[in-house]
Amino acid sequence: MTRTEFVAAHSKNGIWQVTVKNTINQQLQTLQAKTLINAAGPWINQVIEDHLGTKSEHKIRLVRGSHIVVKQLFKHNHAYFFQSSDQRIAFAIPYEEDYTLIGTTDQDHPHTPESAAYCPEESQYLMALANEFFKQPITAEDIVWSYSGVRPLFDDGASKAQRTSDLGIDFGHNLSQTEVTWLIQHEFAISAEDILWRRTKLGLKFSQQQYHTLEQWLVQQQGSE
Ligand SMILES: Cc1cc2nc3c(=O)[nH]c(=O)nc-3n(C[C@H](O)[C@H](O)[C@H](O)COP(=O)(O)OP(=O)(O)OC[C@H]3O[C@@H](n4cnc5c(N)ncnc54)[C@H](O)[C@@H]3O)c2cc1C
Repeated sequence: MTRTEFVAAHSKNGIWQVTVKNTINQQLQTLQAKTLINAAGPWINQVIEDHLGTKSEHKIRLVRGSHIVVKQLFKHNHAYFFQSSDQRIAFAIPYEEDYTLIGTTDQDHPHTPESAAYCPEESQYLMALANEFFKQPITAEDIVWSYSGVRPLFDDGASKAQRTSDLGIDFGHNLSQTEVTWLIQHEFAISAEDILWRRTKLGLKFSQQQYHTLEQWLVQQQGSE
């Protein structure tokens, strides 16, 4: 239902009594539903706490992403992904024929979703990032538009993984400590042989030295358990 706000809900004999408000004429209406799905995106926590009046053990955290649009930097219709010097991933995408879209920043946003707004430091960051890669430098005068949004990410309380270095040791060929740990915990991997041949085919690419480093690390982990 468009232009309709979910206001509240309570369960009666296993059926949800749902109050919604028409945001044009402000009229309230009660609907019945067997199941409620909270699809409120960045407002998920608000719906749970303010509209359902309950608490959830699960939370989301909001991460702000800002973008800049500049005059076309390249003529073809392919996008670029860059790994910046601070180890983040960013992109430059052909945009509305005459422009290039560059994004994105990745800032924690511990405020309401509506308050997400682009700030000048973010354009500095994005310009510097693009200037690491493109021959034609971008300046503030080239920015024709900018916008921000927030992403709701599941908050598992773990540290953030924004950079490749957040994934721990790089054993080679993008096999990270985080991935190896996941294979041990969820796919019963115990040896380098398991990881490099049974779970991945990275054995094709690993040198003897890299194989040995991974095997030694696994032995150490088993010793520390
Ligand atoms: C900067 C940025 C970049 C992104 N990049 C990507 C990407 O590259 N790939 C990707 O897959 N995803 C990306 N996303 C995420 C993508 O936007 C979301 O995954 C997607 O929009 C989520 O859809 P959704 O329906 O869950 O939530 P939303 O699209 O946010 O919809 C939630 C809706 O709930 C409504 N709502 C809230 N409260 C109420 C209420 N009380 N009553 C009624 N309605 C309510 C809101 O008005 C909204 O319309 C990006 C997001 C941002 C901000």
